[in-house]
Amino acid sequence: MDIHEYQAKERFRAAGIPVPPGEIATTPDEAYAIASKYGGMVVVKAQVHAGGRGKAGGVKLAKDATEAREHAGNILGMEIKGLTVEKVLVTPAEDIQTEAYVGVLVDRNNQAATFMVSAEGGVDIEAVAAETPHLIRKLVVDPRYGILPHQGLWLANYLYDDPGLIKQAAKIITQLYHAFIDAGASMAEINPLVTTPSGEVKAIDAKMSIDDSELFRRPDVAAMRDSSGEPASEIKAREANLSYVKLDGNVGCCVNGAGLAMATMDLVKYYGGEPANFLDIGGSSNPDKVVAALEIITSDPKVKSILFNIFGGITRCDDVANGIVEATKRIDIKPPIVIRLTGTNEEVALEILKNAGFDAYTSMDAVVEKAVALAGAN
Ligand code: GDP
Ligand code: MN
Repeated sequence: MDIHEYQAKERFRAAGIPVPPGEIATTPDEAYAIASKYGGMVVVKAQVHAGGRGKAGGVKLAKDATEAREHAGNILGMEIKGLTVEKVLVTPAEDIQTEAYVGVLVDRNNQAATFMVSAEGGVDIEAVAAETPHLIRKLVVDPRYGILPHQGLWLANYLYDDPGLIKQAAKIITQLYHAFIDAGASMAEINPLVTTPSGEVKAIDAKMSIDDSELFRRPDVAAMRDSSGEPASEIKAREANLSYVKLDGNVGCCVNGAGLAMATMDLVKYYGGEPANFLDIGGSSNPDKVVAALEIITSDPKVKSILFNIFGGITRCDDVANGIVEATKRIDIKPPIVIRLTGTNEEVALEILKNAGFDAYTSMDAVVEKAVALAGAN
């Protein structure tokens, strides 16, 4: 789960990181009021779950409150990477001397939190990593100890020469690690970490992604969810407890088990088709889940055929068959459905489905081939 800059900044502040103040506006007049309160120059910043807002015109400096209102008017409603801006952060502008990058993420290769710092901040860190990787210093954190004082200094020393700046940055790096761990984050980033002419080090941008599996035990973090930018289908899937990822193809897939779902998608591709989604209905045969799954799949206008692939272990095929029959009574489905069920009670299941007029089989290949052909013909 991604959180907004203003939310990440709240967490960073709570961890002690120096972050300029800021408030959220949803209208130009609110932006005007906030900017008047601060006085002087402010920055108006789009709050969307997308990087590179600056380049897209979503971060604008304003010399006064009137200009802040104008910028807010332009930024609110703007689209950045397909997401509509509904909120802006209004924050006093900092006088910036240098911009550095400081980030920590869960690195699968190292199986541990890993820091990356670079004096080449402000810009796209992916570009720095790709083109000039020698300008990044990395540190793998031992989870038993967390980040140790000398390690914070070693990273900070890569950013600055001045001992005063190094000490401040080392402290911020340690605080960032704590903010990252406390939120159950998979990534926390300050880009840019700036220095000011008076010799202060501050975080003027903040980004954090939370590991979804950490949310159940952190209601305060879970409450930060903003679904406004998420596709309606993914919100519905989460509410129905389905693992769903929308893709670009036209063969809707409804499968039990993540591994089988992946294998099904592979086979769709093997037969020359393109899956419209990944969907794991899990071990459940509950008709409500099947209804939710079918509603989600059919809400995608690209879907031209629907493929069920069910392997009955603990899940009984006859339960799933009843779920499908029940679901299709409750909602009107246009694309043709082909079903493959195998395993526990498959004979009963096939009987139920055939009696209800469905195309049902036990062979995976045959059914996938058929679903791909139907999608192509429709
Ligand atoms: P991003 O483009 O989404 O990463 O948004 P940032 O918050 O990182 O802002 C992009 C750039 O705008 C920064 O790298 C700065 O150069 C500039 N910027 C942001 N805030 C300020 C500020 O308070 N003062 C000044 N002078 N520039 C700023
Ligand atoms: Mn940034």
